Amino acid sequence: MSLTELTATAKREGRTLLTEVESKEVIKEAGISVTETLLARSRDDAVATAQRLGFPIVLKVVSPDIAHKSDVGGVKLGLADAQAVGRAYDDIMASAKRAQPSAHVLGVSVQKMAKPGVEIIIGASQDAQFGPVLMFGLGGVMVEVLKDVSFRIIPLAPRDARDMVREIKGYPVLQGVRGQKPVNVAGLEDALLKLSAYIQAHPQVKEVDLNPIFAYEDGLVAVDARVVLAGA
Ligand code: ADP
Ligand code: MG
Repeated sequence: MSLTELTATAKREGRTLLTEVESKEVIKEAGISVTETLLARSRDDAVATAQRLGFPIVLKVVSPDIAHKSDVGGVKLGLADAQAVGRAYDDIMASAKRAQPSAHVLGVSVQKMAKPGVEIIIGASQDAQFGPVLMFGLGGVMVEVLKDVSFRIIPLAPRDARDMVREIKGYPVLQGVRGQKPVNVAGLEDALLKLSAYIQAHPQVKEVDLNPIFAYEDGLVAVDARVVLAGA
């Protein structure tokens, strides 16, 4: 579905939070690479979809009422076969029900395990003073504990994207530490510029959270996405 269709659907359903599957469609439309992620509405559907995509597989809870999937036991990684997928489906449904009984659960998202990379976060939000802003940082501990992030006002110039990536304290990690290969920094700058342009062109996109993006020597892929649309 396109952003226009998703906006209409969300409005009709009285919600502003897009699911992971919907959010990834929007991010793909913005030109940023995402893991192919499909919605499965039943246990059998999840198993069949996993078999089609190929193992190892990741299953995640899909609900417009759940923003943070891990918090409700809603993410199962590295599922090696059909049996593991079936069991993970049951586990996710049970723990989501336990953690958030009132949540409307649509099913699970099914995607392949992405190969490990350097975890990056790119976010967009509305600043009370500056309007739409973009955030860049390294994932995990770096952002949660150290708050090692950079911000710029949208729209970004190429120079802004360049500076944003280089001014975080963790920049050396992107250049490759302890024998690790450097990541494709130009690809990260390109993703920042694409998201900036997309948000500028689509003001109904109020918040974007790509957390995490896996960055590689030869590119990147967003394995999670959360888009919030502007309310009525
Ligand atoms: P949450 O809603 O809790 O943020 P995520 O979709 O970010 O859920 O999943 C939690 C973690 O699982 C991610 O931070 C990432 O480390 C890992 N993960 C998610 N999807 C994949 C994937 N396709 N391949 C590999 N790891 C993944
Ligand atoms: Mg996440």
